[in-house]
Amino acid sequence: QSDSISPSPDEGIEEEKPVAEERPGPVQIVRANESDGIFQLDAAALEKILLQDHVKDLNLVVVSVAGAFRKGKSFLLDFMLRYMYNQRSVSSKHSDAWIGGDHEPLIGFKWRGGCERETTGIQVWSDVFVVEKPDGNKVAVLLVDTQGAFDSQSTIKDSATVFALSTMTSSVQVYNLSHNIQEDDLQHLQLFTEYGRLAMEETESKPFQSLMFLIRDWSSPYEYDYGLKGGQAFLQKRLQVKNCQHEELQNVRKHIDSCFSKISCFLLPHPGLKVATNPKFDGRLKDIEDDFKTQLAELMPVLLAPDQLVEKQIGGSKITCKDLVEYFKAYIKIYEG
Ligand code: GDP
Ligand code: MG
Repeated sequence: QSDSISPSPDEGIEEEKPVAEERPGPVQIVRANESDGIFQLDAAALEKILLQDHVKDLNLVVVSVAGAFRKGKSFLLDFMLRYMYNQRSVSSKHSDAWIGGDHEPLIGFKWRGGCERETTGIQVWSDVFVVEKPDGNKVAVLLVDTQGAFDSQSTIKDSATVFALSTMTSSVQVYNLSHNIQEDDLQHLQLFTEYGRLAMEETESKPFQSLMFLIRDWSSPYEYDYGLKGGQAFLQKRLQVKNCQHEELQNVRKHIDSCFSKISCFLLPHPGLKVATNPKFDGRLKDIEDDFKTQLAELMPVLLAPDQLVEKQIGGSKITCKDLVEYFKAYIKIYEG
């Protein structure tokens, strides 16, 4: 990352620093054990990130991306990183330049990764961003990447755990889907949120906060336009409960509605053939279709602009970074066995 922290000159200090400052990077905090499928939390790794002095007492915003693998989740998160790092440097605030240079490879969370299977679990970015909201309150922003396979009965249970854990601990869950919202995407969502809901105390309020359906490779812009507006119209149609529908279809929709305080949808165009198929593609903008970049520039502020950031609440109260560590420890216990 070009924004990596530059070590400050320690004038007057005799001893040399024992280790160079660590570069920001992805950190695996939850992993499923390959052999027995048991989930483990790396509490020390999470504490190292969330108990840093400058963030531990701040309320936090957790933006997570979940969904089947090889659908561009990590790729998207790396643009989120660019957006957040750009906001951090005061000089370039509010500029369009956040999206990067034409020939800059896209780095951050590892995307693509050949064909080796990824470890099922959750990664967070080690750098926690501090953002001042328009009301003057400072919040910490944590970006979360998830890996689940979603491809067979045996992996669906693990994916449900990853999805549930990341939904329980995030304020915004981006449900990353390809082409459309299929009936089984909704059924998965129902299963996954049921997993999470069981684990949480019953309260009056809806158990989870914001859910965004992000549809990649949307191919019907003439029916529903790219972006948030088209997405909302499409979603309304798709989540509509009708008397003529089979009871099961009605129930899935009612369940999803009862779980989240806010549900939205964003339609992203196909990024172009180089992105989808060229093995040499390294994420540079030059190789990405303009339509995609235009919509990406619309999407980032919807998720991450200071006035859009939603603080994580549990049981109706905002929680701090320090609190989140404790919640993670409590939630993981439910899925350990
Ligand atoms: P993840 O497993 O969901 O995290 O997926 P990755 O971010 O690793 O991306 C998997 C592959 O999808 C990469 O080769 C990307 O170049 C490609 N990709 C990224 N975004 C999109 C998209 O919106 N549409 C398509 N078709 N491919 C994409
Ligand atoms: Mg990934």
